[in-house]
Amino acid sequence: MNRFAAAQGKMVERQLKGRGIADARVLDCMRQVPRHAFVDAALAEFAYDDNPLPIAANQTISQPYMVALMLEAARLQPGERVLDIGTGSGYAAAVAACIASCVDSVERIGELADAARATLHRLGIRNVAVHHGDGTAGLAHRAPFDVILAAAGGPYVPPAWREQLRIGGRLVMPVGDAREAQRLVRFVRVGEQEFEQEDLGSVMFVPLIGEAGWQDEPVIDDAPAPPSRKAAGDTAGKTKGKRALPDLIRAAAVRLPAPGATDFAQAFDRFGKKRVVLLGEASHGTAEFYEARAAITRRLIEEHGFRFVAVEADWPDAAMIDEHVRHRPRTRPDARPFKRFPRWMWRNAEFAAFVAWLGRHNAALPPERRAAFYGLDLYSLSESIEAVLAYLDVEDPDAARIARQRYGCLTPWQKNPAVYGRAAWHAGFGKCEKAVVAQLRDLLDKRLASPAADPGLLDATHNARLVASAEQYYRAMYSGSAESWNLRDTHMFDTLASLLDAWGPDARAVVWAHNSHLGDASATEMGRMRDELNVGQLCRERFGDDAALIGFGTHTGTVAAASDWDDPMQVMNVRPSRADSYEQQFHLAGVSPCMVDLRPGVGDELRDALREEKLERFIGVIYRPDTELYSHYAQAELPAQFDAFVWFDTTRAVKALPTPPETHDAPETFPFGV
Ligand code: SAH
Repeated sequence: MNRFAAAQGKMVERQLKGRGIADARVLDCMRQVPRHAFVDAALAEFAYDDNPLPIAANQTISQPYMVALMLEAARLQPGERVLDIGTGSGYAAAVAACIASCVDSVERIGELADAARATLHRLGIRNVAVHHGDGTAGLAHRAPFDVILAAAGGPYVPPAWREQLRIGGRLVMPVGDAREAQRLVRFVRVGEQEFEQEDLGSVMFVPLIGEAGWQDEPVIDDAPAPPSRKAAGDTAGKTKGKRALPDLIRAAAVRLPAPGATDFAQAFDRFGKKRVVLLGEASHGTAEFYEARAAITRRLIEEHGFRFVAVEADWPDAAMIDEHVRHRPRTRPDARPFKRFPRWMWRNAEFAAFVAWLGRHNAALPPERRAAFYGLDLYSLSESIEAVLAYLDVEDPDAARIARQRYGCLTPWQKNPAVYGRAAWHAGFGKCEKAVVAQLRDLLDKRLASPAADPGLLDATHNARLVASAEQYYRAMYSGSAESWNLRDTHMFDTLASLLDAWGPDARAVVWAHNSHLGDASATEMGRMRDELNVGQLCRERFGDDAALIGFGTHTGTVAAASDWDDPMQVMNVRPSRADSYEQQFHLAGVSPCMVDLRPGVGDELRDALREEKLERFIGVIYRPDTELYSHYAQAELPAQFDAFVWFDTTRAVKALPTPPETHDAPETFPFGV
């Protein structure tokens, strides 16, 4: 039994069955063929993750789901003969060979063909023949084939493949006008010259390079160029006559002092009249991003009258901070906020310093003028249920009885809501949906009917909204589509919008969330290819120019992150940014810290120059430097994504704080025990 058996089984259940792969042979073979044997030993532990992984020669091993999807789409039967284009690691060929009688696999890169041959041999797989050459010519001497599969995307179907497909045979390949963005298409040869064709959705494969594919090889430079004059000069050469990007950045950049300096945030006064200012971050564990957001927020509150801060944290955790900073009695005196993974995201010295400042600032003000603090996220199903019940127990015991009954539906799942999600998803309906929505509706009605603003009721309503969103969210997680991401960001936006409503038309708010949530998703690969939307995009749609979306970035340094969900936090080195990234251009500009204003009419020359899409780095609570390109970079159009971008060339990890035990701390040490 191999040590990855459990991970492999889970991969089949969640990534394949969970997304609708039903072909029993495909599922069986995906369970049998050891994907970890096809990647570098250092990456073996990631072999059953839901993504492609790097192999030699800048190529990738296909995502498990893609392999399964293509084989199912090809309706591959035992006894059939397969032509596989783009051997790569040999993995997809091995899975095909587990069903088919034989597979001919063609790879254009000799080094890969040799390695794949060796791996297949070592695993005792004898019915795959690996050929070195340009696969766009097919393999005439082995034709006809029942099935042709291509793991690289071309602009059209190579004519040789059409000819070498048996009548009745199926060809599945990524086709698209752009090198790395395609639609997966199934062709069925129904006659000598007739093909039926079906679109299976958008995909991203490496380009098919060859006679009947893409012609020229792009230069993918893995090693970032040094920040030298020469490198900047090279870029200038490419843009022929136009000024080089780093020069334009340097010219447009507003130099900033260190975030601790009193005048750091002055440059952001230009956003002081906005209804919402959204402050991003390029990781969840970088000190400078917290310090800068704290300094900007402080200025927006002190000088521009912003009324509240809403952050990417759960509502009940943030509610504890809110009670603390507004000097209100604590609803749950024994509880401590931010106890779940990833604790360092909020339990860090930089955030603690901001909370301490907010408390001091508010102490000097009458209660109604104090700035508030809220959480927008939805991972606190259990705490939120408890909070609704606790409120109703005091205010309306009859309603509490009904609420208990409704939430009872979720009780068995509260500890592990993802399991509820799976069960409900398989059953094809939301078991508890009606109950949790009814509960939310009751509280909303109560709020409409209540004449005065009641903070307890506002809190209970938001918790009920969270429970309703979380119920949907955990179900959607299993569809493997953009739906769960979209539900989460819609929940965050709805929470923000409802807070703005509650505070009235003149209230202004600051939002802290990751760049991926508040840079306009429609200007990124996530929005364009995966139909993901986000808080930033929804804010633009609702508030137009009255929303400022401010992104943050860094070139290198250290970051607090984990290797996997629930793993311990580590301080990791951030790899220098890639040569083909936006970050590299800011690095070459050599001004740090700085801010560039990208709004139309303000920074037009730079805006235009930055418009050509590049990679952008997204580090969350997980950082995987070994697979950085695949795990953390995405294509984006920076000036469409953000109204301004704040740059720190070298950054350091946040200083994580220990979690104090659940006891009565001396009140002055709440919430962080320091
Ligand atoms: N199925 C492979 C995926 C490899 S990625 C796996 O599971 O590992 C796609 C591969 O297609 C790359 O190795 C690339 O070198 C190869 N390729 C691109 N154009 C090709 C062509 N014209 N002929 C053969 N191989 C090609």
